[in-house]
Amino acid sequence: MTTRPRALDLFGGEGLAALGYARAGFDVTTVEIDPERLAHHVTHPHVHVTQGDATTYPLDGFDLVAGSPPCTDHSEQAPLAAQARGGTAGTGWMLAHTLRRVRAWADSTGGLFVIENVEGAKPVMGSPLVLCGTMFGLADEGWYLERHRLFESNAALMAPGPHRCRTRALRGRIIGVYGDLTSNDRSCGGRRRPGGGLRAGVERARRLMGAPWASPRGLALGIPPAYTQYLGEQILTQLGGSLAAAA
Ligand SMILES: [Zn+2]
Repeated sequence: MTTRPRALDLFGGEGLAALGYARAGFDVTTVEIDPERLAHHVTHPHVHVTQGDATTYPLDGFDLVAGSPPCTDHSEQAPLAAQARGGTAGTGWMLAHTLRRVRAWADSTGGLFVIENVEGAKPVMGSPLVLCGTMFGLADEGWYLERHRLFESNAALMAPGPHRCRTRALRGRIIGVYGDLTSNDRSCGGRRRPGGGLRAGVERARRLMGAPWASPRGLALGIPPAYTQYLGEQILTQLGGSLAAAA
């Protein structure tokens, strides 16, 4: 029996990121403090859920430390996100704090880390990789998911394909998942999407994100498991090399 490398997912929410890392081949421990979010957590044989404080949870013994510190202070949708989250402003310090912690941990252990956040957090991140649903072909009934997330890592990470949500081919066929989700899609045109577009309702958001178990809040705040599965597979390859070198 082979042992799976161990991943820690801080600020795990409803487990969307953790599921991707588990599918990539990790044994994942998620840390989330909010009982309401834990009540909606994904169930998977290689995802172990812990209720705890992700700002202080020990990092020892893991091969990969991942995390999604609260993004509401950095989000361009800040008012909507704060509403979806129940108004938890003032958590912005957790991103810089977590980056400091995981960089120090990686320097002393040689471990790999991946910290995720929204586009508005770019001033706090190093040189992050940007992923979007259009790179993965995430779509539902001809609507393509625009979902930009930044990933700072000390691993060498690639995007899976071209970034297409600003291309002419997808003009007017872009859909987003954010804010206070309702049961129906809503149109959203305006300056940001000159060709028009949609905000997904709950059921469509579950299909687009690949997270059929998630709550409306979990969908608005989470990332598609496809993102972390793709990154996790790259990290596993790199860990395989470094674990072999250390043996
Ligand atoms: Zn995009």
